[in-house]
Amino acid sequence: MDPNIIDQLGRPIRDLRISVIDRCNFRCTYCMPKEIFGKDYAFLPKDELLSFDEILRLVRISAAFGVEKIRLTGGEPLLRKDLDVLIQRIREVEGIRDIALTTNAVLLTKQAERLKAAGLDRVNISLDAVEDEVFQRTNGMGIKTKPVLDGIEAAREAGLAIKINMVVKKGMNEDQILPMARYFKSTGDTLRFIEFMEVGNHNGWNMDAVVSKTEIIDRIHEEMPLIPLDADYFGEVATRYKYEDSSTEIGIISSVTEAFCSSCTRARLSADGKLYTCLFATSGFDLRERLRDGSTDQQITDYLLSIWTGRADQYSVDRAEGKPMKHNKIEMSYIGG
Ligand code: SAM
Ligand code: SF4
Ligand code: SF4
Repeated sequence: MDPNIIDQLGRPIRDLRISVIDRCNFRCTYCMPKEIFGKDYAFLPKDELLSFDEILRLVRISAAFGVEKIRLTGGEPLLRKDLDVLIQRIREVEGIRDIALTTNAVLLTKQAERLKAAGLDRVNISLDAVEDEVFQRTNGMGIKTKPVLDGIEAAREAGLAIKINMVVKKGMNEDQILPMARYFKSTGDTLRFIEFMEVGNHNGWNMDAVVSKTEIIDRIHEEMPLIPLDADYFGEVATRYKYEDSSTEIGIISSVTEAFCSSCTRARLSADGKLYTCLFATSGFDLRERLRDGSTDQQITDYLLSIWTGRADQYSVDRAEGKPMKHNKIEMSYIGG
């Protein structure tokens, strides 16, 4: 199998983001607003989730195509039972050189050591404010920052590489940009600011709610001067900076104001086994059906090959160029970001 197969825009596949569960213990207002994701919301029943064996089979097949990095996400991935067992098995797949996890970290205190021992390399921890009052409102569950900060400490003690992700939305938490920057400058953790994106259908996205990369950088630079850095590798999503007077870095993920589709090497697998070739897709390719209908590895390989070689997604570029956008996009909590 050629690990360098490319899509219609010349992009190879390198990253597979796997959502292991669609449920979450938070109700972040921009992702799973509780008015929609209430107690009557129909989450996936257990038998519709891919089993670890099924996930493993897809990881093995996609590694032969050139996938090197796996990111486990959700919903909240730490709600999936025995996640460390899955990580240990992914670690054994030839060609996979990096395993990361995106989490809200409240369950990390108990699990960090086990996950590291299983072979997890990195965690991206989502935290949208350092002030309790703002964070409690944002996560929709009244949860204070302490359990998340404890989760970060547990990850550090376990020896996991850490990045902190903060979604910035006007009227929600832009007053936390500087407090967050000051706090994580002092701990030395890389803080990445994410422009509020129009994923899903329920978060009331509009351009006025986006705090742009330029605005974020200007605010920080005024108080704590920054120096731009080069990208670490092809396809890195964040633009990097470091503080002039420290080695601590920050990053900005400017998916709205500066599209980075030309280097997008990511595919996403939903918890029920649909493959999405863009975060803003409206439909996915059903791999679970093939995993469960007796298809051979070769047949699944051929199917994946046809999906990737036919891929022409560049949603953020299209939006920036003013092209009409599709409705009924998939939810972030379903596909995992
Ligand atoms: N529950 C985990 C967490 O929050 O880290 C993993 C899943 S969550 C969907 C993954 C990432 O997507 C989080 O960092 C979250 O802040 C981000 N996210 C969710 N909705 C978003 C939106 N509308 N715009 C930008 N980022 C968003
Ligand atoms: Fe849950 Fe993560 Fe979405 Fe927040 S961003 S509701 S923690 S899935
Ligand atoms: Fe990749 Fe789609 Fe995001 Fe562009 S809009 S960077 S193609 S996921």
